[in-house]
Amino acid sequence: MNDCIFCRIARGEIPAKKIYEDEEIFAFHDINPIAPVHFMIVPKLHIASLMEADMSHQMVLGRMLAKANELARGQGLTEGFRTIINTGRIGHQEVYHLHVHILGGPEPLGSMLKRNFSAG
Ligand code: AMP
Ligand code: ZN
Repeated sequence: MNDCIFCRIARGEIPAKKIYEDEEIFAFHDINPIAPVHFMIVPKLHIASLMEADMSHQMVLGRMLAKANELARGQGLTEGFRTIINTGRIGHQEVYHLHVHILGGPEPLGSMLKRNFSAG
């Protein structure tokens, strides 16, 4: 048994506002939302990040994205949403169990990232 926080949520050891669960993936609301709707789709298998993912994970990775539309609509996101996967130190990943953020609300979200470098 590992003590990864998302593995513990998957096992039901830590409470979370789950909105979906099947044999391979689950989804729950982010505890610290940065948009009116903010949930995450997570594989039950502990994959630390996209840096640890490979072709052996293609089924579960596809499942996560293939479910996004249905789950987003279920949360009222009928006009679009943003998906984010933060990866590693540069990607500012905080929880090292792969997850897809789904973000949305009644108004368009801001631009994807603030431009904080000068090109060329
Ligand atoms: P990331 O920076 O992509 O690794 O995002 C990790 C996310 O997990 C953050 O948005 C946190 O608010 C969220 N988070 C951390 N702990 C919990 C928890 N126990 N329940 C729900 N969301 C959590
Ligand atoms: Zn884990």
